[in-house]
Amino acid sequence: MPRHLITSALPYINGVKHLGNLVGSMLPADVYARYLRQSGEEVLFVCATDEHGTPAELAAAAAGQAVDEYCAEQHEVQRELCEQFGLSWDWFGRTSRPQNYELTNHFARRLRSEGFCEIRATEQVYSLTDQRFLPDRYVVGTCPNCGYERARGDQCENCGKPLEPVDLINPRSAISGSADLEVRSSSHVFLRQEALADRIREWVDTKDSWPSQTRSIAYKWLDEGLRDRGITRDLAWGIPVDPEDFPEVAGKVWYVWFDAPIGYLAAVREWADAGCGGEDPQAEFDSWWRLDRGAEQVEYTQFMGKDNVPFHTLSFPATLLGSGEPWKMVDRLKSFNWLTYYGGKFSTSDHRGVFMSDALELLPADYWRWYLMANAPESDDSSFTWELFGAAVNKELVGTFGNLVNRTVTQVERHFDSCVPGGGDPEAEEAELAVVVQQRLDEYLGFLDSLEFRKAAASLRALWSVGNVYLETREPWKTIKVDPARTACTLRTALELLVVCAVASEPFIPAAAAKLQSAFPTVNWKELRLRADLATQHHLQPGDAVQSPGLLFAKLPAEQLEEWEQRFGGSSSDGTTADSDKVEP
Ligand SMILES: [Zn+2]
Repeated sequence: MPRHLITSALPYINGVKHLGNLVGSMLPADVYARYLRQSGEEVLFVCATDEHGTPAELAAAAAGQAVDEYCAEQHEVQRELCEQFGLSWDWFGRTSRPQNYELTNHFARRLRSEGFCEIRATEQVYSLTDQRFLPDRYVVGTCPNCGYERARGDQCENCGKPLEPVDLINPRSAISGSADLEVRSSSHVFLRQEALADRIREWVDTKDSWPSQTRSIAYKWLDEGLRDRGITRDLAWGIPVDPEDFPEVAGKVWYVWFDAPIGYLAAVREWADAGCGGEDPQAEFDSWWRLDRGAEQVEYTQFMGKDNVPFHTLSFPATLLGSGEPWKMVDRLKSFNWLTYYGGKFSTSDHRGVFMSDALELLPADYWRWYLMANAPESDDSSFTWELFGAAVNKELVGTFGNLVNRTVTQVERHFDSCVPGGGDPEAEEAELAVVVQQRLDEYLGFLDSLEFRKAAASLRALWSVGNVYLETREPWKTIKVDPARTACTLRTALELLVVCAVASEPFIPAAAAKLQSAFPTVNWKELRLRADLATQHHLQPGDAVQSPGLLFAKLPAEQLEEWEQRFGGSSSDGTTADSDKVEP
C-alpha cells in the first residue's frame, strides 16, 4: 500500500488569497487528503507560504514594515484563514525558514558539481532613485509595437508582445516612477535547462497517467526548446547564495522560483524537525523524499493552477534530476483552470470578488467548500456568481442534504423517543435502495481516486438525493399512523444511510459531517472507513441514541444574496485587465 505525499501550490505571502486561489490548489488538495485519510491510507499533506521575491519586498514597504516582520505577520494571517477553511495540513511551513535555506543551497551545490550551473554576465536595468536593480516587470514604458503607455518590461499586456526592458520607449521604474535608469552588468547563476531537456523529456514520457492538459503543456515547452534560466537575483530579501559554493555571485540571493518548489521538501523537513513523524527527523524526511531510503513506496500528488504547470513539470524536475541524487518526483499532477468572478478576474486592486477573509465573515467554511468544489474549474474556467452560489446552498446543502438529515431525525425524535427504532423487516424497497446507494458510493470513490472533483461532488449529491427519494416513497410521516413496524424499518434504514453520508461527506464538508456524526454517539467513527464496503455494514442497533445535530445549513434568502452582490460587485466586468502594476508573484 503506498504512502501518500500531497502538496498544494504555495500561496504567495503578499496578502489574503481569493476564492479562485483557494479552489485552484489548496482546497482540492485538502479534499483528496481527507478522502485518503478517511479510507485508512497514510497521508502527509504539506504546504507553506512562498515568501521571497520583489513583490514581498514591495508589499512590506507599502505596509511600512521590515520584510521579515511583514512575512511573519502575513504567514499567520494566511495560516489562520486556511485553518478556518478546514485545510487539514499536517504542516504549513514557510519558505523563509532555515530548512529551506539549507535545502536550496544543497541543490544549488549539487547542480554545480553535476555541471548544470554556469555563471553568466547579464545586462540589467538599475534604478538610481530606488537604488536597486529592477526585475523586468518593474520597468514600465511605452510599447514599441502598439503604443500602449503602461507596457511592462517583460511583456506588453495590451498587445501581448514579449518585450525586453530595453525595448520600451520612455522607460521608468514601476516602483517610484523615476526615469533615472541605467543598464548595468551583473553576474548570475544560470541553470542549464537546455542540457537537462532530454532527461526531462524521458521522465515526462513515463507519465502517461497525467491529464492531457498537463502533458501537452509540458511537451509544448519541451518542443519549443527549454532555455537556460537565471536562478539568482540582485535582491536583499531571499535565500543568500553560499559564498563558498558560488564566490562569483556572493551577496546575491536565489530566485524565488528556484527556492519555492524546494519549499515542498523543506515543509516536510520542518514537520520532521518538529518531531511530528518520529524521533529521527532525518530518517523521517528521507522516507518521504529519498527513493533510496523509503520513498519508492510514496505516491506523490501535486495540486496547482494551470499557470504553475511549466514550473512543476519542467523547472522543478530540472532541479531534482540535475542534482544527480535519487529524489522523489511527482507521480500525479492535478491542475485547474481559473475561477472567474462574473466572467472577469478577481482583482485585489479593484476590490472585485470574494477573498478568504470576506467569505468567512459571511458564512462558515462548508458553504464555500461545497460550492467551490462542486463547481471546480476542472475542464474549463468556471464563473462565480451569487446566483449560482445561492442555488448550490439552497438546493443542494439545505434542500437535499439538510432536508434528508432533518426529516429523518425529526421523525425519530417524534415517534421513537430519539432512539434507533427496532422492528419491521426490510422489503423490496430497502433492497433496491441498497443497490442504488452502492452504485453512488462506488462512483463517488472512483471519481475521488481519479481526482475528478466535480463528478465526485455530483455523486455525493446523488447519494443524498437517493435518501430523499426513498423517504418520499416510504412516507414514514404517513405510515406511522397505520403501520409502526413498517415505519420503524424505514427510519432505521434512513438512519443507516445518514451514517454513510456522515462519513462520505467529510472530505467536502467536514464541519457538517462532524455535526452529523455527533447525532450518533454509539457509533465508533474512528473505525469507519470511506471504502466500498461502508454501506454494506450495519452501524446502528435498535435502541441506540439519536441526538439532533441541529441545523446543518441555513437557507440564504434572495435579499441576502442581492445585498452581497451589491457589496462585492456583481455583473460582468468590461473584460480589460488594467492592473499592470498589480503586485503578484
Ligand atoms: Zn503593445
